[in-house]
Amino acid sequence: MKGIYSMERQADVVVIGGGITGTAILSELARYNLRCVLVEKEPDIAAGTTKANSAILHAGFDAPTGSFKAKMNVKGNALYHELEKELNLDIKWTGSFVVAFDDDGVETLKELKTRGEANGVPGLEIWDGAKVREKEPNLSKDIKAALWAPTAGICWPFGAAQAFAENAVINGAEVLRDCEVTGITVKDGRVEAVETSEGPIKAKYVVNAAGVYADKISAMAGDNSFTVKPRKGEYVLFDKTAQKSMVSGIVFPVPTKTSKGILVCATTHGNVFIGPNAQELDDKEDLSVTSAGMDEIFAGARKLCPEIPGGAAITEFAGLRAASSTGDFVLGKSKVEGLLQAAGIQSPGLTSAPAIAQYIAEIIVGETGAEKRGDYKKGRPEEPVFRELDDEAKAALIKKDSHYGRIICRCETITEGEIVDAINRPCGARTVDGVKRRTRAGMGRCQGGFCGPRVIEILSRELGISVPEVRKDGVKSYMYYEKEGAAE
Ligand SMILES: Cc1cc2nc3c(=O)[nH]c(=O)nc-3n(C[C@H](O)[C@H](O)[C@H](O)COP(=O)(O)OP(=O)(O)OC[C@H]3O[C@@H](n4cnc5c(N)ncnc54)[C@H](O)[C@@H]3O)c2cc1C
Repeated sequence: MKGIYSMERQADVVVIGGGITGTAILSELARYNLRCVLVEKEPDIAAGTTKANSAILHAGFDAPTGSFKAKMNVKGNALYHELEKELNLDIKWTGSFVVAFDDDGVETLKELKTRGEANGVPGLEIWDGAKVREKEPNLSKDIKAALWAPTAGICWPFGAAQAFAENAVINGAEVLRDCEVTGITVKDGRVEAVETSEGPIKAKYVVNAAGVYADKISAMAGDNSFTVKPRKGEYVLFDKTAQKSMVSGIVFPVPTKTSKGILVCATTHGNVFIGPNAQELDDKEDLSVTSAGMDEIFAGARKLCPEIPGGAAITEFAGLRAASSTGDFVLGKSKVEGLLQAAGIQSPGLTSAPAIAQYIAEIIVGETGAEKRGDYKKGRPEEPVFRELDDEAKAALIKKDSHYGRIICRCETITEGEIVDAINRPCGARTVDGVKRRTRAGMGRCQGGFCGPRVIEILSRELGISVPEVRKDGVKSYMYYEKEGAAE
């Protein structure tokens, strides 16, 4: 046996993929007496589509009534309202607008409202342009009407995946990162083991939550019943100064056939972004941003919000929608016994994750008769956020641990204490971007220009690895090289 394990590993359930879908499933399964392992090929969780999307907890009026997308969206949105407190999630329930500029657009709004009501979305209303601008004064004067969905919100997707993973780990589940699935052994029509870069793991159930690679994982077990094609969406992110001339919530145009359109949206951290566009691709790794894409996004967003300050843009990024050949989520049992699909999870997958997790867990619990854990722990360990404390609480924290007295990221006021905590938490940070996503160190205007080298030093010290072994984000994303003979 090669790799990190000295003994053959066995699990009741192996979840493949550490995005929002896989981590939510792991957290739901961790409520039961089941040995669960999540395997993720990258050095950290939420390294795929979960790290690059619009971060909207959709109300649920877009998807066709009766589809998995519609059912999971509406239930998932309601579950986030329940989980927010329990898992200390970063969510702002802003509500959302879909805006129309002409009579055809207004007809579409009415259709969306009717569909939303059939899907079970509460509180949908059509507002006239003047009322919309009372709430979002920077929107175009040409907006005629909008569909208002009060149950929509914005979240921090990485934080949600992190919360699910932490809750699962404190309840005995394992998260194995840098662990790529390379094959699935099937015997007499039933899954037997998952082959990984770190050795095999025997499994009674395998849950496929591998994002854009879910068709490849399914094919490893002999189920070729669907394909997943990436559909890229590009974004531009603006710094916090932009919000005063943009929006405080979520503003969509009327949707197109392939996407919800280029929107203007706030983030939970006070920034604003515009995007995404929609490009069909074959390459499951193409996260490039293009100047043509940027032009398309700016043009689309300026129709909604004319005064977008281009100079306040701080970064661009792209995400890949996992568009399945079925047009819907591929959920539940496959033709291979023990293989459960959570595949083709494109938008509204982030919103749907808690509902998908319950759906998958119900199948496994139903078949195994697994009982709820008597020692189940709700929630997750507290995360101190220094900048949000009053002076007294700051002083007390510094007295308890002097690391909180040293600011590492000046743009976002992040202390060494928070970085040390992020590394040493359950399923803690292993990379510079892992620290950034957990603490915001490096997310400010300078984008890590000043604090990056200090974060590297802290990672090296806390993980007991050399500086050249510290990675930025991906499997081979080393940033420093040791000079030959440097040690002499
Ligand atoms: C442009 C865009 C905008 C979106 N906006 C929204 C939105 O506003 N609201 C919403 O609800 N949804 C939105 N979505 C959809 C949402 O982001 C996804 O549905 C969700 O993130 C999918 O999560 P996942 O866990 O299924 O996949 P991923 O996050 O991609 O996770 C899959 C994981 O599997 C791992 N993996 C793959 N192959 C292997 C292997 N062989 N071995 C081990 N691990 C493997 C990957 O590394 C990855 O971490 C958007 C998506 C895009 C692209």
